[in-house]
Order: sequence, then C-alpha cells, then structure tokens
Amino acid sequence: MTGTVLVVDDIPANLKLLEAKLLNQYFEILTASDGETALEIAEAKQPDIILLDVMLPGMDGFETCQRLKKNPKTNHIPVIMVTALSDSADRVRGLQCGADDFLTKPLNDTALFARVRSLVRLKMLTDALRSHLETNDRMGSLIANEQENWDIESANILLIEDDRPHSEHLQRILAEDNHFCDDCTDGKQALQMLNTSHFDLVMLAMHLDTDDSLRILSQIRSNEKSRNIPVLVLTEEGDETMLAKALDMGVTDYVTRPVDANELKARVRTQIRRRRFQERLREIYEKSLSLAHIDELTGLYNRRYFNNHLETLFKKTREQGGALAVMMVDIDFFKKINDTYGHDGGDVVLKQVASRLQDAIRGYDIVARLGGEEFAMIMPALRPEQAPQAAERLRLSIADTSFTLPDGRSIQVTVSIGLFNQTLQDHDTPDTIMKLADQALYAAKRGGRNRVVGSDALAELTQAPEPTNQPANTAA
Ligand code: GH3
Ligand code: MG
Ligand code: MG
Repeated sequence: MTGTVLVVDDIPANLKLLEAKLLNQYFEILTASDGETALEIAEAKQPDIILLDVMLPGMDGFETCQRLKKNPKTNHIPVIMVTALSDSADRVRGLQCGADDFLTKPLNDTALFARVRSLVRLKMLTDALRSHLETNDRMGSLIANEQENWDIESANILLIEDDRPHSEHLQRILAEDNHFCDDCTDGKQALQMLNTSHFDLVMLAMHLDTDDSLRILSQIRSNEKSRNIPVLVLTEEGDETMLAKALDMGVTDYVTRPVDANELKARVRTQIRRRRFQERLREIYEKSLSLAHIDELTGLYNRRYFNNHLETLFKKTREQGGALAVMMVDIDFFKKINDTYGHDGGDVVLKQVASRLQDAIRGYDIVARLGGEEFAMIMPALRPEQAPQAAERLRLSIADTSFTLPDGRSIQVTVSIGLFNQTLQDHDTPDTIMKLADQALYAAKRGGRNRVVGSDALAELTQAPEPTNQPANTAA
C-alpha cells in the first residue's frame, strides 16, 4: 500500500528524519514547517494522512488540527498528533481537537508505520464511498455534504476480556459515558454475539488465558458481519511486536495498560464517531443508488454508472496522482452456452460469473455489467505492475471451478480479460483507456481465449491470424 503523508514539524532535522523513514516504506512525502502552510498544502494536495507536531511556532498543532477538521475539504484526512510530552492531558486534548491518533516522541518505527498504514487503509474505504457519492451527485441523485456532529452517546460495545477485575474496571469507565457494554471471555462467544447483535466497537484484551487474541481478531475480520467494525485492543508495555501484528491485521486503535480513564473515553469516542460517519455515508450511498444504476439480472452496476464512476476516479487520479487499472472481461463462447443450455441456462451463468467477480475484488474496486456477457472493473490504486496478477486471479476464479445449472448439470466456463495497465499519459481520457482495455480484450480473444492481455503488451502482439478455437464449454 502507498499513500501521501504530509509531515508538519518546525525543526528541519525532525522533518528530514521522518521523511527518510517514510520514503523507505514507499510513502510519498509532503512537508510543512508551520500550521498555516500545513492547512494550505492539505487543502491543495489532499494527502492521505497528516503527521502533525504539537509544538509549532504561531498556530500550534491543536489549533491546526481543529481547523483541518472544520474545513469540509480536509476534515476526512486522518491526523496523527506527534507530541514530545507523554502527558495524558495533552493526548486527550489532541483527540478532542479531532485528531485520529497521536504518537509520542521519540517515535517508535513499528508503531509509526503500522498506525500510518492502518489509517491510510481506513481512508481508502471512506474515499471510495465519497467517490460513489460524487458520482451519484453528478447523476442528479440526493447527496450529503453534511458534516454533522455525529451522535456518540450510548454506543454498543463488546468487551472481550477474561480477567474479571479488569473487565469490571473498564465497564465502569465506559458507563460514565453512557455506553452499553456486553462482555465475554473468548472468541467463540464473541463471534456469536457479533453475529446476532449490532455493535459499534469491539474492545479486545491482548492477553487472554482462555483464547488467542490474534486468532479472535482474524476471525472478526474474516466474518461477514463484523468485517468493518472498529477494534480497539488493550495492550501492555512491551507488547510492540504483537501490537504491530495486530495493527497490520486491522486493529483500529489501542490503549496501553494501566488504562488512563480519560484517554480511553476519548479514544472510544473517536472510534465511534468515525464508525457512525462511515455507516451514515454507506446508508446515504445505498439509498441514493436507485435502480437506474443497477443491472437487473446480476445486481452489478450498469454501464451508465460505470462510465460516470470511471470519470470521477479518472479525474481524481489526474488531480492527486496514483494508479488506476481498468479491466474488461468477456465470457468465451457464450453463444454456445445459450445454444446448449437455453437462454435461462445462460442467465444462470451470467449471474454466477457476476457474483464470482464481485467476490474476487477488493472493497474499493467496482465491477459492472456493461451489457450481454461483458463485464468491466475499475481498480483504483492498483499499480500497472500489480494489475496482471489481479486479473489472473479473476480469470482463475471463473476457470478453476465449474458452474452448476439448476438442473444439476455442470459446465466449464472461461473468460478473456483485457487490461489497461499503463501509467496515465497526458492525452489519456476515460475513453482512451477503455479503448485500450477493449483492444487488449480483443487480443486475448485472438490469442486463444481464457487469458489475460495487458495494454502494455499490445504493441508487441503481431497481427497474427485468428486461430480457430474450439468451444471449451461443453457439458462435463
Ligand atoms: P467470444 O468468445 O468471441 O466472446 O464469443 P461469444 O459467443 O461469447 O460472443 P458473441 O458476442 O458472439 O455472443 C454473445 C451472446 O450473448 C449473444 C447473445 O445472444 C448473448 N446474450 C446477450 N445478453 C444476454 C442475456 O442477458 N442473457 C443470455 N442468456 N444471453 C445473452
Ligand atoms: Mg463472449
Ligand atoms: Mg461479447
């Protein structure tokens, strides 16, 4: 994963050090040495995350953070406050100013990289939702440009902790903010509760006698109903390695024991505000997604939505840099499937292909049915050199497992994929990249079908005569 980090610090040596560390991890770096400049750069360059020093000349870090969070153009960018003081009052103040996290100097590398990565990942999801909303807006649907004060009272929290006194202590603190807390002591109970009730936040003790916390974490993340729920872990001093692993696995925040009540409450509030904001975005997005944007047979987006969304993302990539891959997928010899199994049989195959493609992509990719037996995907931030592998995975998701018709018969189905996997050129438009993906698809068909061709290879492919292919999709 890559992203752009804005580092704000007034001491040149600190800037240099952070820049070097982050460059090493393949992040792009912007720098500012005072609050005013930071605000300007944040608005103009839209970084993915801001590392903000508290001690700045003139406007200090707290005020800078507050202003970033008040501005609708920057309030979605996560802010990590960097403080020299390990004073809890200071940290709480940072969170109250809207900071998403803080780090204490001297910076611990593991914590720094893990926190940055975890916040960038979160921002990518929020960005995906925002882009969808923008696309809908252009299509004249309802839109929310609201930045309300998200209600953070009475959240439902699931606490996984097998130490009674600890658990009771935490529940007393949470009750002071009127949160409802359910508790349990192992992963099995936790999963059961997550699947039957709605929770806003999971709090997970890192050390359990009854179970392995990292295993519970991976179960929570791979379980459909709890995949997106924020998880806050309770760690102890000296847990860095395990904590780094947990953060990589998608933990959203952590508190170190002995727990400071004010810090805990502030962190819980931050998590819940963010969770409710995302839920609200998703809700508006789903509501605004009228049937006019959905293909009736497969439930995927239709061509109209796809074109609009490609335009949104193309513009964004142009303005902010980064990669964008587009794939066109066409079922091989589909006419033959219709001829053999009837139009209804063909429809069943179309639906199954759609759902396999949908399952194989990442949360921020989109897949659409352009028409007939032709599908297309937009994959933001997928670099040209990563794209062929992703396309290959999609191809195999169709070719590797046979399809089953309602009457029990099974068929082999394959697809050909044309891929736009090049760096955007000045003369490129959404149209030109779709044309390149289409030409690549055509080359994949000519080359024998059931294969991936990237637009970067188009020039090398000679105008060989089309081989005569035998349909592969006969009854098994
Ligand atoms: P190729 O490997 O070259 O792509 O061959 P093909 O047979 O897949 O391609 P062709 O474009 O010749 O045929 C596509 C067929 O898809 C023709 C059309 O009748 C059928 N089709 C289009 N829309 C639907 C649909 O909604 N349901 C069904 N069952 N078939 C459809
Ligand atoms: Mg076809
Ligand atoms: Mg076709």
